[in-house]
Amino acid sequence: MSIRVQLDDIRAAHERIRAHIIPLRLAPSPSLSEQFKGDILLAHEYLQITGAFKLRGAMNSVLQLKPDTSGVTAVSTGNHGRALAYSAKQAGVPCIICMSELVPKNKLEAIRALGAETRISGKSQDEAEIEAQRLVDEEGYTMIPPFDHQHVIAGQGTLGLEMLEQVPDVDTVIVQLSGGGLISGIALALKLQNPDIRVIGVSMELGAAMAASQQAGKPIEVEELPTLADSLGGGIGLDNQLTFNMVRDYVDQIVLLSEAEIAAGIRHAYYQEQVILEGGGAVGIAALLAGKVESGNKTIVLLSGKNIDMERHRKIINREDYQHG
Ligand SMILES: *Cc1c(COP(=O)(O)O)cnc(C)c1O
Repeated sequence: MSIRVQLDDIRAAHERIRAHIIPLRLAPSPSLSEQFKGDILLAHEYLQITGAFKLRGAMNSVLQLKPDTSGVTAVSTGNHGRALAYSAKQAGVPCIICMSELVPKNKLEAIRALGAETRISGKSQDEAEIEAQRLVDEEGYTMIPPFDHQHVIAGQGTLGLEMLEQVPDVDTVIVQLSGGGLISGIALALKLQNPDIRVIGVSMELGAAMAASQQAGKPIEVEELPTLADSLGGGIGLDNQLTFNMVRDYVDQIVLLSEAEIAAGIRHAYYQEQVILEGGGAVGIAALLAGKVESGNKTIVLLSGKNIDMERHRKIINREDYQHG
């Protein structure tokens, strides 16, 4: 039996998580509206608790756990790990985030500060994944993956509902794309209510696994490379169940950005919008500035997260560094 996400799942997710999240704040961007066609609105979702939209999917998953589960686990020290740690704490569910020895101390501490246990095993992500799977198989934990999961996709899709609620005549939406949970949920929520809305996905040139997979017609592996948009890194899974097909069916266009273009997006957000964004959060603005997507009459640009190392941010806005490192 194949699992599918329906509009009703997204609506139910919205009711479920509403009391636990910060609603989406949409506001016009005078600077972008002046430069590009039509009205451009920014969706300030980096204001979400834990600094990124991932709380929506994690919270929707945690609130639907089977009562006999021992707790939740994931292999992520990024925005998904943070979101899961926070959601589990809120729900009073034990949470173990698995990671390798190579994870920087500040990331590890950020996860602990949110109330999760951390489990460090080996020198690679693979070893951390083996430990997480062992927790599932032997200790009754539930794995919450970062994107390829119906409850996660439905949670992220609540952003699409809020966009359409607040801007009923939106015609173009620009969304970041990595594993595709975010864009799949949003595109489903929008297109099942208005099939004419254009949904555009933005990734970085360095290691865009979903874009390469769509080109190949099936999930493929792509070498992971350091990028300013670090929250958009990683594969889509060779056994991808949901997001590969949803991106194929619902996303109108995928564009890829260079590191310099992403840096320009971060700088524009800072100097023109007074907003601090991580690289992944800024790619929508960056895609417009690079001339790689065309705005509509009413365009929403999602700003998905703000969790960037501030020393690195300082270097980017001062043009001391726009490469990875
Ligand atoms: C995870 C993440 C994305 C991409 O979401 P996917 O569901 O993996 O496509 C975009 N922006 C930020 C800030 C993220 O943390």
